[in-house]
Amino acid sequence: MSDFDYVIVGAGSAGCVLANRLTADGRHRVLLLEAGPPDTDPLIHIPVGYARTLKDPKINWLYETEPVEGTANRPHIWPRGKVLGGSSSINGLLYVRGQPADYDMWAQLGATGWSFADVLPYFRRAEANERLHDSLHGTDGPLAVSDATQRHPVSDAVIAAGIEAGLPFNDDCNGAVQDGISYFQLTVKNGRRWSTAAAYLKPAMGRANLVVETEALAEAILLEGRRATGVRYRQKGRLLTAHAACEVILCGGAVNSPQLLELSGIGDPDVLKAAGIEVLHALPGVGANLQDHYVVSLQYRLKPGIVSVNEMSRGWRLVREAMRYAVNRTGLLTLSAAHIQAYIRTRPGLSGPDVQFHILPATADISKYTEQQVWELEREPGLTIAPCQLRPESRGTIHVRSADPTAQPAIRPNYLADPLDQATIVEGLKFGRRLAAQPALAPYVSHETFPGAAAPDDAGLLGWARESGTTIYHPVGTCRMGQATDPGAVVDPDGRVHGVGRLRVVDASVMPRLVSGNTNAPTIMIAEKMADSILSDARAAIAA
Ligand SMILES: Cc1cc2nc3c(=O)[nH]c(=O)nc-3n(C[C@H](O)[C@H](O)[C@H](O)COP(=O)(O)OP(=O)(O)OC[C@H]3O[C@@H](n4cnc5c(N)ncnc54)[C@H](O)[C@@H]3O)c2cc1C
Repeated sequence: MSDFDYVIVGAGSAGCVLANRLTADGRHRVLLLEAGPPDTDPLIHIPVGYARTLKDPKINWLYETEPVEGTANRPHIWPRGKVLGGSSSINGLLYVRGQPADYDMWAQLGATGWSFADVLPYFRRAEANERLHDSLHGTDGPLAVSDATQRHPVSDAVIAAGIEAGLPFNDDCNGAVQDGISYFQLTVKNGRRWSTAAAYLKPAMGRANLVVETEALAEAILLEGRRATGVRYRQKGRLLTAHAACEVILCGGAVNSPQLLELSGIGDPDVLKAAGIEVLHALPGVGANLQDHYVVSLQYRLKPGIVSVNEMSRGWRLVREAMRYAVNRTGLLTLSAAHIQAYIRTRPGLSGPDVQFHILPATADISKYTEQQVWELEREPGLTIAPCQLRPESRGTIHVRSADPTAQPAIRPNYLADPLDQATIVEGLKFGRRLAAQPALAPYVSHETFPGAAAPDDAGLLGWARESGTTIYHPVGTCRMGQATDPGAVVDPDGRVHGVGRLRVVDASVMPRLVSGNTNAPTIMIAEKMADSILSDARAAIAA
């Protein structure tokens, strides 16, 4: 048995932030448990390495969902980071916050203290934005945010096409207004991925009051009555326990945090009984309220002679890019999974955009993807325009199937179950076609390859969405915040698990609603804010 003040489960986007903030003043002893290895694989740190880490089981959980009725009964592969830095070590590096209204909605739903005005200081505290220096952005936080080091001519033409299609150019889609089109900003510093392991954990690693254990899988939260006292975990075949004098903090992400609560007897009694787990505390919201972004691609063949990322990623062009990276850390190897972002409103009366586009001058071999869920670039030049609905109505679940902590839980994302989600993705695809047809892209685009003539109308586009769409890796909401009077809430607005003392959840799972954008920056913001709450509770306990 080892003794700490705080035991943090999971060294991902949130866990690394907490490990840093809770050890900063030297007063608290903290144990950080991570199921995966250290982040020594060089492909983690070269931004474009995500193409490999996306399918590397050594550092990736590679969950597989249940077949989804709304997506032609296909199951979906869900990569999640299993390594120091968690999903921030394998993600697409896109820095996106969502809309101010997302957070105001959280507050309205019962997450008191999470309005945009409340959370903005924490976004700023985290951020070191290379270009944007104003009241909405931070310049000296741990998280480096930078512009792409290279602009592809096709991506420049996409921006011009967006303007022709009626979108404003918006050089800060994380600002007051999200509508418009621009290049993404990236969590990249000097050409290297800036995961939370790089930004927060490495600077704290030397502290005497922080112990980091890797390849340590937490199997259960130890409870004395309705109070958490520690964690049981397995490392190198040995079963170990760590005692937490102050709190156990779950940062395992939207899949594992509900799973670990359920393995520990906290959850929906029906789910626990079916899995053969004794009910220690009934909390029906655990594992419910799952939301994710579902993305669907339109693919275009570019004209002969145009060099897209497809060709830049092979042969002598790749060698040239590798040399450019080695010499000055710029070029293709520093780029992300998408170059251009665009945000549109698909119907009148919306207060903000409801569709986001990820756009990249590259194309995947669609047959390999739909049949084997493997991303491989095509050989001929291509352009992908991929809309996703920002605030889906469909809700899913993540629940344990058994008491075995090494078994994957049953993930039911329920994509496209709601008619509004179906209608919105179709409108997004139609706008994508309009974009591709603008004069600015005429010198580049030859024709649409997928879905092409197979989807001539709305019904065809919906069919294409069902048959070819995929996660864009943003599951949230499975331990959602809310008031104690709300039967579906799992944690209070400070992350404390309802009805269980000294136990918090701090990660993407606490979001009551999916934000209108990618989820890494919002998760880091959550951890920054909840770190303050944990430290304030600690100060109050000492004073009492
Ligand atoms: C492939 C991919 C691409 C993405 N692209 C982007 C992007 O471009 N921009 C963006 O904003 N967002 C992106 N996201 C989403 C974003 O990265 C996540 O929302 C965010 O990292 C979630 O943070 P988290 O702390 O909740 O969980 P994670 O970062 O996943 O961390 C959870 C950690 O807990 C560990 N863990 C889990 N269970 C246990 C256990 N029982 N014991 C010990 N350790 C455990 C895991 O191994 C992991 O390290 C992407 C995600 C993925 C997977």
